[in-house]
Amino acid sequence: MPLSASLEQRLLPGVLSVPSDELLRWLHARNEPPYRVKQIRRWILLRRASSFEQMTDLPVRLRAELAAHFRVLGTELREVANTTDGTSKLLVGLVDGRAVECVLMRTEDRRTVCVSTQVGCAMGCVFCASGLEGVERNLEPYEILEQFLHATRLLGPQERLTHAVIMGMGEPLANLNNLLAALEVVCSRDGLGLSRRRVTISTVGLPAAIRRLADLGVQYHLAISLHAPTDTLRNQIVPVNRKVGVEELVAAGDYYFEKTGRQVTYEYVLLKGINDTIDCARRLAELLRGRSVHINLIPYNPVESLNFETPSPHRVRQFTDYLRSRGFVVHVRRTKGREISAACGQLRLRHKRGQAAASPHNATAQSASPGN
Ligand code: SF4
Repeated sequence: MPLSASLEQRLLPGVLSVPSDELLRWLHARNEPPYRVKQIRRWILLRRASSFEQMTDLPVRLRAELAAHFRVLGTELREVANTTDGTSKLLVGLVDGRAVECVLMRTEDRRTVCVSTQVGCAMGCVFCASGLEGVERNLEPYEILEQFLHATRLLGPQERLTHAVIMGMGEPLANLNNLLAALEVVCSRDGLGLSRRRVTISTVGLPAAIRRLADLGVQYHLAISLHAPTDTLRNQIVPVNRKVGVEELVAAGDYYFEKTGRQVTYEYVLLKGINDTIDCARRLAELLRGRSVHINLIPYNPVESLNFETPSPHRVRQFTDYLRSRGFVVHVRRTKGREISAACGQLRLRHKRGQAAASPHNATAQSASPGN
C-alpha cells in the first residue's frame, strides 16, 4: 500500500540530523558549493526558518530538492502548555513516536530553556515522574538541539535565549557525548551563540562523568542533585547513590571546581517529613563545610500518583535560615506553573497513558523540576 504523503514527509530525516560530510556529499552530487551547508544551518538555527521555501538565498531548484529529501526539523512540537507566569512546557515528538518535554521560562531579564537528554530516566529517584518507567533510549544530538529550537520559535523576533539548564528528563551525564555535541552547536557563534557559562548541566551524580567533564575544561556550570546529606537517606530516595556514595560525589564536585574554577551548585529537593528536618540541614552543612558552593533548595512539586508532599513555607524558611547561619549561599527556587500542575515528566506520562486532556491548561509546566 503506498504511504500517504504526510506519512512519507514525517519519515524524512531532519536536515540537522544529517552529518555535515554527508550533507556536503549530497550537495556535491547536485553541483552545489560547500557553503550551502552553512547557509541552510543559518536559516534553521538563527533565522528560525520552518520551511526550505523560506530560504530565499538558495536556488529555487535546490529548495525543492531539499524539501523532497529532508524536513527542516526532525522532531515536532506536539503540544505547548502555557501558564500565566510566563512558563511554557513543550511536548516534543520524536521520529520513533516517542516524546520528551522541555520548558521555556520567561522572567524579566532571562529566557531560559530546560531540556531533556533521554527518553525516560534510569536513575529511579523515588519522587520523580521522569523515572517512573525507566529509560527507553538516549536522545541523539539533533534531538537535544531541536528542543532549543522549538523553544526559540516561541520567542518574539527580538528575543533570544539567555540561559539553558540541562535538567529535564534523563541523566545528562549518562548521555554525555550526545549532549556535548548538541551544546557545541548551541554555544557556537554559528549556532545559537549561548555562552557556556550560562549553561547549567545538572546531574544526579555520576562521579566518573563529572571528572571527565572537568577534564575537558569547558566552562559549563555544574549542578549536583544531592537531595540528602547522608548515604542512609540518599540510598532511599536516589537509588543510584548505592553505587556512588555522597562523599565520592562531593569529591567529584570539588574536582570540578578545582579544574574549571566554577563554583558548583548543590540542588536539594525538600520533601515533607523526609529530608526537610533541621537535623538534615545540620548534616548537609557538615557535608559541605568549608566549600565555596551554592545551595539551591527546591520545595517539592507534587507528582500525581506519588506519595510525597511539599513542606510548609515555615519549614522551608527554617531549613534555609539554618544553612545561611552556617555561611552558605542559599537560594530557594520558586515553583512556577502550579496552576497547571507539577513536575518534570508528567506531561509525557499523561500522553503515554492516553490521559492527555484536550486543553493544554490541563497539562503541566514547571520551573522547579526535580529532574536531576
Ligand atoms: S530526578 Fe533526574 S535523575 Fe532522578 S529520575 Fe528524575 S530525571 Fe532521572
